[in-house]
Amino acid sequence: MALKKLGSAGRFGARYGRKIKHKINDVEKILRAKHTCPFCKKVGVKRLSVGIWYCNKCDSKYAGQAYNSNVK
Ligand SMILES: [Zn+2]
Repeated sequence: MALKKLGSAGRFGARYGRKIKHKINDVEKILRAKHTCPFCKKVGVKRLSVGIWYCNKCDSKYAGQAYNSNVK
């Protein structure tokens, strides 16, 4: 049973502390949200690994932030 408040960080149960789990939840919310491709502007971007994002609509791979596809 996952805690609602903690979102995806609820999988850690009673372990690791409250503050750190809320931080994980914030990060994973962005990570699992829908990401827009900077090239074709379509929503189909997934994270391949840390900082590497892949768009399966226009087949492009690019470097973004570790947990966010935004290129600044
Ligand atoms: Zn694209």
